[in-house]
Amino acid sequence: MQCDIAIVGAGPAGLCFARALAGSGLKVVLVEQAAAERLADPPDDGREIALTHHSQRLMAKLGLWERLSEEEIGLLRQAKVLDGDDRDGLLFTPEEAGKDNLGWMAGNHAIRRAAWEAVAGQPDLTLLDGEKVSLVHADAAGAVLALSDGRELRAQLLIAADSRFSETRRAVGIRASMHDFGRTMLVCRMRHEVPHAQTAWEWFRYGQTLALLPLHDPQVSSAVLTLPQQEIRRLQAMSEDEFNRDMAARFDGRLGAMTRLAPPVAYPLVGVYPQRFVASRFATVGDAAVGMHPVTAHGFNFGLLSVDALSQRVLEAHRAGRPYWSDAVLHSYDIEHRAATRPLYEATRLIAGLYGNDRLPARALRKFALGLGRRAAPFRRLVMAGLTQDGGDMPFGGVRRTWVRLRPR
Ligand SMILES: Cc1cc2nc3c(=O)[nH]c(=O)nc-3n(C[C@H](O)[C@H](O)[C@H](O)COP(=O)(O)OP(=O)(O)OC[C@H]3O[C@@H](n4cnc5c(N)ncnc54)[C@H](O)[C@@H]3O)c2cc1C
Repeated sequence: MQCDIAIVGAGPAGLCFARALAGSGLKVVLVEQAAAERLADPPDDGREIALTHHSQRLMAKLGLWERLSEEEIGLLRQAKVLDGDDRDGLLFTPEEAGKDNLGWMAGNHAIRRAAWEAVAGQPDLTLLDGEKVSLVHADAAGAVLALSDGRELRAQLLIAADSRFSETRRAVGIRASMHDFGRTMLVCRMRHEVPHAQTAWEWFRYGQTLALLPLHDPQVSSAVLTLPQQEIRRLQAMSEDEFNRDMAARFDGRLGAMTRLAPPVAYPLVGVYPQRFVASRFATVGDAAVGMHPVTAHGFNFGLLSVDALSQRVLEAHRAGRPYWSDAVLHSYDIEHRAATRPLYEATRLIAGLYGNDRLPARALRKFALGLGRRAAPFRRLVMAGLTQDGGDMPFGGVRRTWVRLRPR
């Protein structure tokens, strides 16, 4: 088989990349190990994704946003960062950024379904589902993929969208640094007595970190808890009643009684950043490019940035009759995406360290940072620009992606 562009992985990033090429005339083959039925109706994986204003616009451009129902979208009006037993915390409101809201929340499974619907019936796109890429070779002459059914696929350009542990990236010889945070994140959709007022909480309590992400229903949120894996396992083993009481107590009763609406799901926390995003005839997008720690809620937001940055370059070169697979096209993407993501990737490691550490110096530094946040207007504007990822009209616009919403380590 032969095509222009082969994409490995039909997660949200791979699907969005395929969608971005619609109408270009390029022949695209998308290879995914899961079955098409699962892609059309993805199971709920408990992840609720915070989306910036920029991501909302990109999703609208790709035809995803209109496919999310009203109930699937939560409004993120404001965010509150709490430390220890603090009651007021540091509040970030959209007015400071000249917006109506900081962003939106949508379930990962809903985003996946919308992305699948957006590519359905797309001319020049072939989906090979239930098909694992077992071998890959890419060099100046082109890319060759060996599929699990024994077929061979040849492409001018190979795109890896096969998760942060991308086998395709490894196969072409790109090294990646991995950071195991030694923590696991538990996510669980819960109903609570006290309404969330469309406010996200980031709460750094001693010995544990918590977050609350407001969903569409005023009394339903995603509760997020980060702890060592052995403690997460203990929580997962609890009966539903025990779990509900335990969570209400962790939130200090501030939300009243809490009831879980879905089984809790655990995610071990590992950050991954490759040495390069590209090689000859090869590029990475989504988590395969940058595997973020969810503390700054930016994995998919970065995934959309990568899709937009690379697809625009490919389409521009194709329209101009230049080779869209050239090193010049790929390197220019590499430079832009690195500049857009590296500062936040590194800052996230620092934040996760600072907020997962209960020793006295770290606690003092946290208090100082929050105090600074309350008093210093430039600091607040910088945070707001990061929260909305919409820094064009803000001072610090050039570094607008360096600080975003916090989540617990
Ligand atoms: C708890 C949690 C909370 C998060 N919260 C946020 C948030 O608030 N905001 C945000 O922006 N991001 C968030 N993220 C990150 C976001 O979920 C990811 O960035 C995004 O889902 C990654 O999409 P992807 O398409 O790159 O990769 P994936 O979703 O991992 O998809 C990869 C696909 O490749 C396929 N595949 C893999 N190997 C092969 C192979 N060899 N052959 C064929 N197919 C293959 C897989 O089956 C899969 O379908 C969060 C993540 C977690 C874990």
